[in-house]
Amino acid sequence: MTDGPAHAGAAKAPRPRLLALLDYDGTMTTHECNELALQPFVGDAWWELEEESYNDRMSHAEVFDRQIGLIRAPRAELVRRLLEVAEPMPGLHDFFAGLQARGGEAAIVSAGIREAIEAFWQRLELPPIELFASELVGEGPEDGPPYHLEFSDALGDCPRCGPKSCKAAILRRLRRPGDVVLVFGDGPSDVCPAREADLVFARGHLAERCEQEEIEWRPLTDFGAVLGEVDAWLAARRRATR
Ligand SMILES: [Zn+2]
Repeated sequence: MTDGPAHAGAAKAPRPRLLALLDYDGTMTTHECNELALQPFVGDAWWELEEESYNDRMSHAEVFDRQIGLIRAPRAELVRRLLEVAEPMPGLHDFFAGLQARGGEAAIVSAGIREAIEAFWQRLELPPIELFASELVGEGPEDGPPYHLEFSDALGDCPRCGPKSCKAAILRRLRRPGDVVLVFGDGPSDVCPAREADLVFARGHLAERCEQEEIEWRPLTDFGAVLGEVDAWLAARRRATR
C-alpha cells in the first residue's frame, strides 16, 4: 500500500465495524438440514412439533429439543446425515473473507448441533469464526440415544424464546458502540436478534415474520452480494445524515 497525501482520506468518514450474526441451518445452507436429515428418523411428530413453534405456542428451543428426543438412531449416523444434506449457500467464502479483510466480526448463533456445523466449516475451508451452538448429549450407551440438546450458555432469557434460549443476548454481548449489526436468519429463533439489527438478511419464515412486524429486511440469495449491499446502505445513511 502506498501513502497518499495526508488529506486524501480525511474527507471520508471511517467505516464502522461490521458485526455479523448468522444462523446456520437454512441460512448458510440452501435447505433446512435438521429437517431434511432428522425428520425421517422421527416421522410426523416432527411436523406437529414444528407447528407449535411457528404459532408461538412452544419455544423453538423446546420444539427442537423434543424433536431430538424422539430420535433413536446412532450418533455417528445423525452427524453423517446432517453433513450429507448440507448444501452451502453461494458466496459464503467471499463474504467471510471480505468481512475479515475489513476488520469485521462474525459469529454463528445456532441451536444446531456443534459437531455438524464444525464439519461443514472444515469441508468448505471457511475462515475461523465464533460458534455458539448446541451439544448433542446422548444419555444411552456410547453417547447414543435417547438424546437431548444442551444449548449454548450464552443464549439469554426471553418471554418469547424461553429461558436461556434467546439469540439476542449474544448480539448484545458482542455489539460494540458504533457497530453496524447484520443479522442473517430464516426461522422463529432469528426474530429477536432481527429486531435489534441494523440490517436483516432473511429467508423463509423470518422474512414473513419481519413483514408482519414491519422490520425492514432484505432477501438473502447470495452471500457474495451482501457486502456490496451493506456499502450501498452505509453510503445512503451518510448522505441522509449530511
Ligand atoms: Zn428472544
